[in-house]
Amino acid sequence: MTVWNLGSVNADMVFRVPHMPAPGETLSATGYQKGLGGKGANMSVAATRAGSHVEHIGAVGEDGLWMKERLAGYGVGTTHLAELPGPTGQAIIYLDAEGENQIVLLAGSNTEISEAAIASALEGARAGDIAVFQNETNGQQAFARAVKARGLRLAYAAAPFDAAAVAAVLDQLDILVMNEVEARQLQDATGLAPEALPVAEVLVTLGAKGCRRFDTVSGQVQDVPAPKVTPVDTTGAGDTFTGYLLAGLDQGLSMEEAITLAQKAAAVMVTRLGTADVIPTRAEI
Ligand code: ATP
Repeated sequence: MTVWNLGSVNADMVFRVPHMPAPGETLSATGYQKGLGGKGANMSVAATRAGSHVEHIGAVGEDGLWMKERLAGYGVGTTHLAELPGPTGQAIIYLDAEGENQIVLLAGSNTEISEAAIASALEGARAGDIAVFQNETNGQQAFARAVKARGLRLAYAAAPFDAAAVAAVLDQLDILVMNEVEARQLQDATGLAPEALPVAEVLVTLGAKGCRRFDTVSGQVQDVPAPKVTPVDTTGAGDTFTGYLLAGLDQGLSMEEAITLAQKAAAVMVTRLGTADVIPTRAEI
């Protein structure tokens, strides 16, 4: 089966700095690293490393072809990752000596994805495939409609959080993944607690405490603890969780089994520095 991911692809450019630059200040960086990032790319790599076939739907700009090549090199399907004129999605990240960061994000080609291309990509979907998207691209409603018209299961990772974006797709979702903060923001915006949402499976990730699953059909609430590890860098933990979760479901695991697998992968991920490039393989977990 295939995991279809409408997702962002970002060049993460990390500058190590002695302190955050003040307005007007020119500051020498003490280090630099360029990596593959973006929630969408992270999830595609995670689901691929979990052993599923992933088709990534999205767009890179003219300075982002290296990311398309890297995704393909990792085994992600990139036929539907368009190459557009103009800048690619990118994050300029300042990381100071205390580990504090400042981030400037340019959506670039991630918000130039053609809705016609989304619909035509999904013509290749088969019954039993599963689909996922996040909030770093355009075309979310077109994707949700096309996915449901083809009868696939649809999962949404509601990040970065935007109440209007969630509300626009809520009644199409089968699975909603949020962290604790996002769950609270959604409840503030809609007045609906997770168990009252019109989505069959609502998963709230709780960092080191694991994940709470709301099976809203049976009314069952289940706490699945996370493995205990010493975290080094939690960047990409949520994306690794969601990518592995989707791959687990794609490979026929029950929701509980898929959550357990996803948490094992996320626990390994938090012991590593970096994003997409260092997401663990199934053999490593
Ligand atoms: P991020 O934005 O840092 O990628 P998030 O805020 O979306 O993450 P979290 O709830 O912090 O999501 O983490 C997602 C999952 O990652 C958790 O459910 C858990 O399985 C795993 N995880 C995160 N932090 C830890 C930790 N310190 N120890 C073990 N597992 C962790």
